Amino acid sequence: MNVLALDIGGTKLAAALVDNDLRIIERHECPTPASQTPQALTASLEALLSPLADRAQRVAVASTGIIHQGVLTAINPANLGGLEHFPLQETVSRITHLPCLALNDAQAAAWAEYQALEDDITDMAFITVSTGVGGGIVSGGRLMMGDGGLAGHFGHTLADPDGPRCGCGRIGCVEAIASGRGIAAAAQSALAGLDAKAIFTKAREGDVQAQSLVQRSARVLASMIADVKAVTDCQRVVIGGSVGLAVGYLEQVTGYLAQEPKAYQVMLKAAHYRHDAGLLGAAMLVQK
Ligand SMILES: [Zn+2]
Repeated sequence: MNVLALDIGGTKLAAALVDNDLRIIERHECPTPASQTPQALTASLEALLSPLADRAQRVAVASTGIIHQGVLTAINPANLGGLEHFPLQETVSRITHLPCLALNDAQAAAWAEYQALEDDITDMAFITVSTGVGGGIVSGGRLMMGDGGLAGHFGHTLADPDGPRCGCGRIGCVEAIASGRGIAAAAQSALAGLDAKAIFTKAREGDVQAQSLVQRSARVLASMIADVKAVTDCQRVVIGGSVGLAVGYLEQVTGYLAQEPKAYQVMLKAAHYRHDAGLLGAAMLVQK
């Protein structure tokens, strides 16, 4: 059975035709429009899905935001260009005329990454650090989605009670500080206005402010991982996302985590499926 897998992210939309052996037969992507309306998203999805739909039997969608009963609700609307509610499952089924499963992208990625781990691991957390900070939890070998779809939204746990207000409405969330958007928002003077990718490049070139912005993100993430360990007692934490997988970042997080008491330490690992984890995880959940 071919699955048409779709990934809806803060910066891009990706669609892929995935076969039974989880090989990507064909893949297309386009940027997520900067200012989104339901109409704009529907038009983008039509363009992306229509050329692939007649070769698939099912659709699997991994999307940023909370997915509850097929409806997308943005926990941080800034990550989706202001889009807050979208009838995702219904829209995709209407475009493709196929049955559709939709879930949060980091939850889907967690499931894919869990399949790539050693067999004796039953408890794992996946954390993605990119535009935002997301995650997913596998507990006792099962993916936790939560009654309302919120399980694993680690990015909206507390990093600093005096920190900046997060797009979700809370104060001092991990996402507001550690994410690519958070890194860019804290940049001052010569670095003001640069995005996270440019700040990482500056840090590698030796810019002291850029290095401290990256370190601040890594330190906050390490502290959050200790919290995740305390809550889930997971055996492994897998890190993905464009910031999470940036050169040198995981090493910094590992260094800060090593400063935590032993009980809160956990082995970290870079995401096996890199940037396709969401797509493939959603496909795996449909095929299982
Ligand atoms: Zn938040």
